Amino acid sequence: MTSKDLLFGTGGIPRSTKGTSSISGIKRIRELGLDCMELEFVQGVRMGEKGAKNVLETANKEEVALSVHAPYYINLNSYEEEKLKASLERIYEAAKVGSLCGAESIVLHAGFYQKSTKKHTFENISKALKELTGQLRDEGIQAVLRPETMGKRTQFGTLEEVLALSAEIEGIMPCLDFCHLHAREGKENSYSEFTEILSRVEENLGKQGLSNMHMHISGVEYGTNGEKRHLTLKESDLNYPELMKALKEFKAQGRVILESPILEEDALMLRKLYNEI
Ligand SMILES: [Zn+2]
Repeated sequence: MTSKDLLFGTGGIPRSTKGTSSISGIKRIRELGLDCMELEFVQGVRMGEKGAKNVLETANKEEVALSVHAPYYINLNSYEEEKLKASLERIYEAAKVGSLCGAESIVLHAGFYQKSTKKHTFENISKALKELTGQLRDEGIQAVLRPETMGKRTQFGTLEEVLALSAEIEGIMPCLDFCHLHAREGKENSYSEFTEILSRVEENLGKQGLSNMHMHISGVEYGTNGEKRHLTLKESDLNYPELMKALKEFKAQGRVILESPILEEDALMLRKLYNEI
């Protein structure tokens, strides 16, 4: 395999997969000539140890790099002890099973502000993630937890918040979701804004921040409260050609996971665009 700066793949198994298993999805990624796939544990971690071992073997054989999306049902700023514990448990499970699959990056939606101030929410989430990364380290589980930049204004996860957590806590790195960054305020959609985002990554995390990126890209429909739904890249106003230019200019390395409704078609289209720059 030739070395590539950016790997392109799909969030979940490609739509054209025959069957519904992660294993058939990984094989389909290889047939399509894509590079990576994100295992969607979004409705809960339902894979056991044996299943994970089979996924690991298939991914190694097919040379497909894997990551994990943790369950959606998480709020690390919950006021109820039970719900906080359950949230931590879900991320822990995703990390444990993910690491058995050979997936190191575990993407997560960290939580909601609810009635808290932004500062207090940050403190609660930071405290929870410190505990959890410590536990994973103690147990020898190879995982990097990646809080995602979020598209709705009620959700914790601005660029600043995600970068600050990553700078502060060992074992935390960002997942930059560019459709969410754009949808949140209707901004972040020009070459200069994209380069500003990448500069901030470098300021907060150093060169490593740019050499170990994890990104989500999709088209998006949005309104005054932010994200409404995902669209294909061509249907949306996302300025993806300029985004690809900025990533190339900054020599960003890592993974680009497509989450648009036509997953693999947009992944192939975007990679072609990126390679032609
Ligand atoms: Zn997500």
